[in-house]
Amino acid sequence: MAKMEVKTSLLDNMIGVGDMVLLEPLNEETFINNLKKRFDHNEIYTYIGSVVISVNPYRSLPIYSPEKVEDYRNRNFYELSPHIFALSDEAYRSLRDQDKDQCILITGESGAGKTEASKLVMSYVAAVCGKGAEVNQVKEQLLQSNPVLEAFGNAKTVRNDNSSRFGKYMDIEFDFKGDPLGGVISNFAAVVVRSGVPAGGAWNHVRHQQPICVCDSTDKLKLERDFSRYNYLSLDSAKVNGVDDAANFRTVRNAMQIVGFMDHEAESVLEVVAAVLKLGNIEFKPESRVNGLDESKIKDKNELKEICELTGIDQSVLERAFSFRTVEAKQEKVSTTLNVAQEGQACQGSDPGLVSAELHPGVRNVTVMGRGVSDNSFEQFIINYCNEKLQQIFIELTLKEEQEEYIREDIEWTHIDYFNNAIICDLIENNTNGILAMLDEECLRPGTVTDETFLEKLNQVCATHQHFESRMSKSSRFLNDTSLPHSCFRIQHYAGKVLYQVEGFVDKNNDLLYRDLSQAMWKASHTLIKSLFPEGNPAKINLKRPPTAGSQFKASVATLMKNLQTKNPNYIRCIKPNDKKAAHIFTESLVCHQIRYLGLLENVRVRRAGYAFRQAYEPCLERYKMLCKQTWPHWKGPARSGVEVLFNELEIPMEEYSFGRSKIFIRNPRTLFTLEDLRKQ
Ligand code: ATP
Ligand code: MG
Repeated sequence: MAKMEVKTSLLDNMIGVGDMVLLEPLNEETFINNLKKRFDHNEIYTYIGSVVISVNPYRSLPIYSPEKVEDYRNRNFYELSPHIFALSDEAYRSLRDQDKDQCILITGESGAGKTEASKLVMSYVAAVCGKGAEVNQVKEQLLQSNPVLEAFGNAKTVRNDNSSRFGKYMDIEFDFKGDPLGGVISNFAAVVVRSGVPAGGAWNHVRHQQPICVCDSTDKLKLERDFSRYNYLSLDSAKVNGVDDAANFRTVRNAMQIVGFMDHEAESVLEVVAAVLKLGNIEFKPESRVNGLDESKIKDKNELKEICELTGIDQSVLERAFSFRTVEAKQEKVSTTLNVAQEGQACQGSDPGLVSAELHPGVRNVTVMGRGVSDNSFEQFIINYCNEKLQQIFIELTLKEEQEEYIREDIEWTHIDYFNNAIICDLIENNTNGILAMLDEECLRPGTVTDETFLEKLNQVCATHQHFESRMSKSSRFLNDTSLPHSCFRIQHYAGKVLYQVEGFVDKNNDLLYRDLSQAMWKASHTLIKSLFPEGNPAKINLKRPPTAGSQFKASVATLMKNLQTKNPNYIRCIKPNDKKAAHIFTESLVCHQIRYLGLLENVRVRRAGYAFRQAYEPCLERYKMLCKQTWPHWKGPARSGVEVLFNELEIPMEEYSFGRSKIFIRNPRTLFTLEDLRKQ
């Protein structure tokens, strides 16, 4: 019988080791060196057991061809050099052959390559799953959802030219043969917040695809052919070098068709985009004071007129909505005037709602008021909360669960210390004294509520929390910390400390578009626009207050986590090698920071101390009994002793496995693959 052999592809010294579990010695320095060595040799993927680390190459590598797909198809995970296709194949096959629901969690900072990774996984699965006209149509639709989503949901930022402004959760359903039946894409939590006015002023792609200004329907859309006339399009920062906007626009239009937009629906979406562009050009001038309040007027009504023509909103209604704001004071409706700054806000606030909702009619849940969004405001707070939860589920599933199982099964085990960020999740989401609960309480409290009163409240409740820092209360530990302004609080996230500017938290959590504006929008004869502002329906005005933005996020994150926990997780941890969006540069300090907060070293340690594979005795014996005369065809006696006999006979080294209470634990996945290969011989 064949003896165990370690496959050499993972141990090639020239290009470092393919699985960090095999790294000797293991420390931060060797870990980073190994990644760098591999990166320098175009090996951007490295394993930690079954986890894939992906380092963004920032250039296209010839490693995703149809031939590569064939290479990885139906091969064992460790047989070839590490690749995202190997993970995709493993996940797809477990789903098809073992009927285990799979989820693939892709994490990493902005620009690390998450979106690209998700596209690669999808293209791999599309390439290997069923054939036939019907299946092909589903596949096409799944693949073509990307250009549509990116066109409306991505924008250029400082960190990434094509940054996703929403968190995406894609659910693909397969039938028993492994053919895709269809998919549901939901944007979760960070979602709409991210699609708000982005920091740095970049706008969604469709808006800077100048061809919309030269497309066939320009006249119908009442757009100028000179796109630089539009404030949103002329922003320098919105252009991305080397991108062919015209070609992209055609791709998007084509994709919309494949995904299932009827012609008139796609047109209606473009009308909304055109209206948004025009909205961005509306300027206000301060007028004289009316009733002791500043009032402002629209400078040039031409754009306004065209918006109204496009959307079928009565001009006087829209104009009034821009200039006045109705606030309810004790059952009485009072109209106040808006000043210039507020009008800008009203305009921008309406915009992300329009854009984000286009793709998800019926699930528009949050609209963010878009006053200059500084990076660490409410939006970033929410994004970081999501990241915190994703890290938590990683810990739960890979570190904690793993160690607990060894204890349960009575397997000898050295405990590995790791930082459990549950305490930070609790600081944010605890129902009684978490930050989100405090914010809700403050928002719903009668009386004067401001961002400052919210911060004061946080200070009372969270002051002693280890991960919360602020200077507001006299007893604060941080009184002398000048890097912590009075209007801010700081959270020590698992990934590092983040300072949050409290300004805007209350408003954004309240999630109120100016009511007059939603009412004006609801009056539009344009059915898409009307459907985007159901709260503008006067019949609904007195209904219960909608849930706050914060509680909606919390609920959708909780649903997501619950969903993920029912599936077998696969991890892709993306790493950004430099800040310059450039190829060939590997900045060690930057990478070091990321591997620290992703907890990758702990991940290797747990993995090394542990066992890669486990299986109950009965199925294990059933599967491999053919490899040994004593167990074939029937083993009389307990399954456990049958497995013992089997492993002895095959001369599997003792240190490679352990006998637990109910399962056999196999240290190295390669052992398993050798067993599989022997079965095939
Ligand atoms: P964000 O959180 O901002 O959405 P992200 O993690 O989704 O960021 P991507 O948009 O996937 O980041 O990647 C940023 C850019 O890096 C891509 O536009 C592409 O140019 C490059 N890139 C990422 N992954 C790869 C890859 N595997 N091969 C080649 N280029 C890549
Ligand atoms: Mg992305």
